[in-house]
Amino acid sequence: MGYNAFQILKEGLTGNKGWRPAWRDPEPKSEYDMIIIGGGGHGLSTAYYLAKNHGITNVAVLEKGYIGGGNVGRNTTIVRANYFLPGNSEFYSHSLKLWETMEQELNYNVMHSQRGIINLFHSDGQRDAFARRGNMMINQGDDAHLLSPAEVAEHNPFLDFDNVRFPIYGGLYHPRGGSARHDAVAWGYARGADQQGVDIIQQCEVTGIDIENGKVTGVQTSKGPIRAKRVGIVTAGRSGQVAAMAGIKVPIESHVLQAFVSEGLKPTINNVISFGMGHFYISQSDKGGLVFGGDIDFYASYAQRGNLPMMEHVMEAAMTLMPAIGKAKVLRSWGGIMDMTPDGSFIIDRTEIEGLYMDCGWCYGGFKAVPASGWCMAHLMAEDEAHEVAKRHTFKRFETGDIMDEEGTGAQHNLH
Ligand SMILES: Cc1cc2nc3c(=O)[nH]c(=O)nc-3n(C[C@H](O)[C@H](O)[C@H](O)COP(=O)(O)OP(=O)(O)OC[C@H]3O[C@@H](n4cnc5c(N)ncnc54)[C@H](O)[C@@H]3O)c2cc1C
Repeated sequence: MGYNAFQILKEGLTGNKGWRPAWRDPEPKSEYDMIIIGGGGHGLSTAYYLAKNHGITNVAVLEKGYIGGGNVGRNTTIVRANYFLPGNSEFYSHSLKLWETMEQELNYNVMHSQRGIINLFHSDGQRDAFARRGNMMINQGDDAHLLSPAEVAEHNPFLDFDNVRFPIYGGLYHPRGGSARHDAVAWGYARGADQQGVDIIQQCEVTGIDIENGKVTGVQTSKGPIRAKRVGIVTAGRSGQVAAMAGIKVPIESHVLQAFVSEGLKPTINNVISFGMGHFYISQSDKGGLVFGGDIDFYASYAQRGNLPMMEHVMEAAMTLMPAIGKAKVLRSWGGIMDMTPDGSFIIDRTEIEGLYMDCGWCYGGFKAVPASGWCMAHLMAEDEAHEVAKRHTFKRFETGDIMDEEGTGAQHNLH
């Protein structure tokens, strides 16, 4: 069923009785051409592009919970292409272009809003670093402007520009960046994949991976065994656990990242803003809540909730940047499990098992990657060859030292 103005009018006049579920709820078949483990944003977009770009529709997405229950429905929804390093730069540039046509492509309102991102800087050295990053973004074909403090104030006058410790020296403005409604992206890709014949099977946990003579032959699940010659592990924070089912140890640690939402306020924050002297970022949702977050909790965990010291740290950064925020009440907070790599960049690659592929290591930046990740993972699974914009994102780079440490923070998972 297509979504359009005529349909809304017709349904409105006839009691809204004609709407159908956005995707089917099929029982799993005994065999598929391909299986995707994990029904998050990346698993669903992989299935969508397998069908759309490669004509492979005999595909199952196996999700142990429900669609949108993982990180894809838990993130702070920032979408941007402001990466510095070759490898990341072209990948996220490709992703942002896919975001810009996603709603028409999926016939689904994901509330993509290109309201612009401003990364604030607070010293001369930081200004130089952001100027360099901005030039790299422009070289890649994306947009970047260096703003003076007065220009930042035109966008967001309520920031504490003259803070004694961290005065605002300006900002790197990325107008095409912004945000989107996180779970709508999962629903849109789920609907799009289903319409092309992909089976989306919820409440179906993968408990084992079947391997014969070094080749994958299928998976064991809570709904019984399912055979397939190609299997993709796309399980974000659970990547290490699922890879271990195939005897593979991946260079990933799982850490908790928290998010916070305030009570609804009148429109206050025009862009997505990040603080340069602490890991803190904030935007305002269309419902009015201020949505903000900071660093990961600094220990490995599979808990989907965080702890008070990091909450305090985030609130302190918020008060430093924008003292008026102290009057707003925090309504909700939650955590998600992040798949952190040692260099902070992702992996889309084959594994040592023939027919078994992995898409993982998104750290806390995988929401913006949803379209390009699916595009590249589908390419890898269909062609058994890396896509041009993801070819550097291999497991091998951790052996050869050809790493992509975007932040320059060193080889420690929890620093990225
Ligand atoms: C608080 C927070 C803020 C964030 N902010 C941003 C942001 O602003 N911008 C940005 O770009 N990124 C952000 N991220 C990161 C982003 O959300 C993730 O990188 C991305 O969603 C991960 O990919 P996914 O959507 O496929 O993951 P998920 O939605 O977690 O999907 C993985 C799925 O695999 C399933 N699964 C696991 N094990 C099994 C199994 N054995 N069998 C079957 N299914 C299984 C899980 O149930 C889950 O649904 C944030 C994350 C968090 C938690």
